[in-house]
Amino acid sequence: MEGHKPSLLLVGDASQLAPARSALEEECERIELARDGPSAIKLAGTQQFDLVLMALELPGMDGLQVLRMLRASSSRRHLPVLLLSQAAGRGRAAAALGLGADDFLPWPLEAEELRARIHRSLAFRRQIDELIAQADELHLLSVTDGLTQLANHRHFQERLRDEFRRAQRYDDPLSLLLLDLDYFKSVNDELGHKAGDQVLREVASSLRRSVRETDLVARYGGEEFAVLLPKTQLPGALTVAERVSVDVASLRLGPSGSLRVTVSLGVSGYPGRAIVSSDQLFRAADDALYRAKRDGRNRISLYQAAESELAARAG
Ligand code: GH3
Ligand code: MG
Ligand code: MG
Repeated sequence: MEGHKPSLLLVGDASQLAPARSALEEECERIELARDGPSAIKLAGTQQFDLVLMALELPGMDGLQVLRMLRASSSRRHLPVLLLSQAAGRGRAAAALGLGADDFLPWPLEAEELRARIHRSLAFRRQIDELIAQADELHLLSVTDGLTQLANHRHFQERLRDEFRRAQRYDDPLSLLLLDLDYFKSVNDELGHKAGDQVLREVASSLRRSVRETDLVARYGGEEFAVLLPKTQLPGALTVAERVSVDVASLRLGPSGSLRVTVSLGVSGYPGRAIVSSDQLFRAADDALYRAKRDGRNRISLYQAAESELAARAG
C-alpha cells in the first residue's frame, strides 16, 4: 500500500477473520482484533486506526450498532469502516451503506479482492484528507494578512459582528482598540518601503504579545491595527491600551534595530451610550482615534460618551 503502512482493526470472531488477517498481515503496520462491539468501540476510542474491517454478525451488539456509534463520535466519523457478512446478512447491505459504511463485502472473500477493496477505501480516505487540509489552508489564507500574519480586514469585520452579537445576547462587555502608527509615512520616506514593512511586522508581533490569546489582533489598514477584547469592560480595555502603547514605544525597530515608533489609540466599549451595533462600536473607537491624533498623537483617547460615563461613575 502507498505511503505509510496502515493500522487495522478487525472486529469479529478470530477464526472467521483468520483469512483476512493472513491476507493483510504483510502490508499492515499493525492489526488488532476485537471480538465484540463494546471492545471494538473501546479500542477505536483509545488507539489510532486507519481502517476497520468488521463482521456484521457479532455476539450481542451487531456491526450496524457499532457502526452507528463510531459515526456518532466526532473523531471516528470519517474512519473507513468495511462490513463483512455471510450470505444470510446480505439484505442489510443497504442499511450498512446508509449508516456510512464505506463498503459491504460478502464473506468469505478472495484475498486479492479484499486487499483491492481495502486499498481503494484507504486511497479514497487519503484524497479526502488532502482536500480537507487544502481547504483548511485556503481558509487560513483568506483570513490572514500576508505581511503580518495577523487577522486581515475582512476577518476582523466578521469577528467584530459576531462578537458584538454574542456580547448583546449574553449581556457581556466587549471593547475595541483601534491604533494607528504615528508619522509612519516618514519611516517609509526615510528608510524605504521594505524597512517600513519590517517595522509593521515587528509592531504586529509586539501587539500579539501584549494581549491575551482570546483577544483578536487584526491589521485593518496599512499601518492601522485593531484589537478586539471580548468580555472586557472599559477600564480593562484602557489598561490593555496603556500596555500596548508602552510596549510599542519600547521597541527598537527596523533594519538597524534603532528606530522607535509611537501609536495613537482610540478605545470604545459595549455596553455604552449610543452603542447598539458593531458599526457604532467601530465608529466610536475611530472617532476617539481621530481625537488622539488631533490632540498630538502618542496617546490614548476614549470615545466621548464613555468619558462622561466613567467620570459620572467616578464622581
Ligand atoms: P499619522 O500620525 O497622522 O497617522 O501619520 P502617518 O504618516 O502615519 O499617516 P498617513 O495616513 O499620512 O500615512 C500612512 C502611511 O503608512 C502611508 C504609507 O507610507 C504607510 N503604509 C501604509 N501601508 C503600508 C505598508 O503596507 N507598508 C509600508 N511599508 N508602509 C505602509
Ligand atoms: Mg493611518
Ligand atoms: Mg499613521
